[in-house]
Amino acid sequence: MKCIGHSEVDAVSTCARCGAGICPDCVNGTFYQVDNKPLCRKCNYEVGLENDHMFKSMLRSKRIKTGIFIVTFIGGVVVFIVNKTGNAGTASAVIGMLFCWGLGFIGNFFDKQPDNRSAKAQAKEALREVKYPLSTLIGKLLGFFIMALTSPLQIIAFLIGINGVKKQIADNNTILSRIKVENQ
Ligand SMILES: [Zn+2]
Ligand SMILES: [Zn+2]
Repeated sequence: MKCIGHSEVDAVSTCARCGAGICPDCVNGTFYQVDNKPLCRKCNYEVGLENDHMFKSMLRSKRIKTGIFIVTFIGGVVVFIVNKTGNAGTASAVIGMLFCWGLGFIGNFFDKQPDNRSAKAQAKEALREVKYPLSTLIGKLLGFFIMALTSPLQIIAFLIGINGVKKQIADNNTILSRIKVENQ
């Protein structure tokens, strides 16, 4: 078998993605790997494009979620100020603010992780919710407000995350342009 990229050279390995033969140069020059195995030139380029799409959609979803957080964060601060300057007490001003901050987590619910607990554990919780509706509700409300408190931290974490994805996109673009140059 000959190398798919260098038709005059004998293949020493196969592309982990399409199975085409690849020569030592192509093995050493691979940019991406699948299961620690090298890829042919064409697959290197295609994987680079796939990564680009994946990172860009990650960036889009992180930006949307950050936007929701920032809007609800500002909304919460406004609610706090309005309540505070009115005659509402500090407690209700804070609760109003935290309620808005908690709404910022809406975006996170769309890509919630699947429930990996055992069926038994899930059934147990469902039963507890039926048996103790009030304490379950109070627990959930408490959880909501505690989660809401972390809203400012979430915004910071998302901004750091966005920066990280931007760097991944830039690194991946560098690789893509190198593959292009080497293919010419
Ligand atoms: Zn291939
Ligand atoms: Zn080759």
